Amino acid sequence: MNSDLKKLLDIQSFDKQVADLELELNKIQQKEERIVGVVEAKLVQIDEVKEEIEELEKDLKFKEDLLKETIENLNKLEVKLNSVSTEKQLQAVSTEIDIAKTNKSVLEEKIESLKEQIDQKKKGLRELEDRHEQLEKTLRDYQERFAKRREEINKEIERILKTKEELLPTIDKKILKKYEKINRWAKGTAIVPVKKEACYGCFMKLTPQVLALLQDTDEIVYCPNCGRMLYLDESEE
Ligand SMILES: [Zn+2]
Repeated sequence: MNSDLKKLLDIQSFDKQVADLELELNKIQQKEERIVGVVEAKLVQIDEVKEEIEELEKDLKFKEDLLKETIENLNKLEVKLNSVSTEKQLQAVSTEIDIAKTNKSVLEEKIESLKEQIDQKKKGLRELEDRHEQLEKTLRDYQERFAKRREEINKEIERILKTKEELLPTIDKKILKKYEKINRWAKGTAIVPVKKEACYGCFMKLTPQVLALLQDTDEIVYCPNCGRMLYLDESEE
């Protein structure tokens, strides 16, 4: 095989390795963002439940104050009942007392129900907070692992690029330029093997002349159809 082509094949392989590693970096990034998203969503849920509890507690406080007033009023009415002198007054105060008693029991029922709701919400909140804590821990574990893998990948990329940089100046400049030009559209498949007498880039059958040229010459042979650089696949022979 043409020695420049051999080196270019290495370059192509380096580029592929770097592309694969960069893809892995992207996947890691996406996975981390997904987990961060889940953790944040849990926080939003927690905030919502906290707000709901706050609302319920405000309502509870309001009703408890109202109950207190109602009881005070009821006590006053009962004192008043002892000091009425006419039947008519007695009737009026009794009616007021009945109304106050009804209000009192309605309020007590509502207060009981609110307290139950608040208890339920607080239980739910504790569960959410536990879940959030677990998720945070999972996230930290992942981030630790991701950071380690990122470092490995970046080192590996650096190593490959360094090897590539060292190899590049040893390749014939004209051939390198041609390779880069093809690679602009071929994206990683500028150099392809010949398999079953066809170009493995565009899959067109090659003419006997091109095949003979590949066997006989040390020059770089291009696919007449797509223009990629060709080499004979050793395993084919
Ligand atoms: Zn081709």
